[in-house]
Amino acid sequence: MTTTVTLTGTGVPIPSPGRAGAGVLVRHGTTVLQFDAGRGTVLRLAEAGVGLHEVTALFVTHVHSDHVIGLPDLVMGRWIQDHVWRTGPLDLHLPEGEAAGFAARMLDPYAADIALRMEHVQEAPPEPRLHAFACGSEPREIWSRDGVTVEAVAVHHEPVPDAVAYRVRTPDGTVVISGDTRVCDEVEELSQNADVLVHEACRTTALHAAVAGTPFEKIFSYHADTVALGGLAKRADVRHLMLTHLIPAPGDAAGEREFAHDVRLGGYEGVLTVGRDLMTATIG
Ligand SMILES: [Zn+2]
Ligand SMILES: [Zn+2]
Repeated sequence: MTTTVTLTGTGVPIPSPGRAGAGVLVRHGTTVLQFDAGRGTVLRLAEAGVGLHEVTALFVTHVHSDHVIGLPDLVMGRWIQDHVWRTGPLDLHLPEGEAAGFAARMLDPYAADIALRMEHVQEAPPEPRLHAFACGSEPREIWSRDGVTVEAVAVHHEPVPDAVAYRVRTPDGTVVISGDTRVCDEVEELSQNADVLVHEACRTTALHAAVAGTPFEKIFSYHADTVALGGLAKRADVRHLMLTHLIPAPGDAAGEREFAHDVRLGGYEGVLTVGRDLMTATIG
């Protein structure tokens, strides 16, 4: 058996052609784990050959809309087709606090639709099972099944509270998903000898002068500088680094090469992918 890692979205809040919102899909046999659900996630899952009924569990990194705006879409879509598949509610794992609060309220605007559908076809309301966990600076196992485990650790995306990275271990190897964070020790520790590190990427060093004094300067301060990220991936001895959540979104191959150039400048010499939607890495 193998483990595959698929980028279901490499975009950011500002729309960019071909780039859905944040999301990473990790598959090992019938274990199908989705991390974040940004804009268009359900379409990317369909394109990756994953039915909504096949998602084993969904994990959220933090409450920023570009990571959760596709969540009600996924939950409602799964519910609407459940009279066919009968897989029941989705298991949702989130940091306690704002992310869990969002998930608890996210279906409220659909109350009228839910009531109408229950009069018509659906037998029970959509009730995703929420599992909120406390996050700390030490990795903590939050999920385990059939030889696959998921750990979470707090990262640095201040002022967003309760932002986490995840590590997935399968019999084939280890996958780390950074979520949104500046380059930090917690992800470096979590990524030691990882087979795949999916990390957000922001060209802070290269664009330092261009963003100085603009609101982008603040935004860049809590994202991962691509040059520093190259140093992290080198020190952690990561086998394959996949860049996602690309800031600014590269419009062409030359723009993508600039991201790669930054990472190499930081010292990383392993396998490097500047992510596009649906790119997939295989382990095992
Ligand atoms: Zn984001
Ligand atoms: Zn964010």
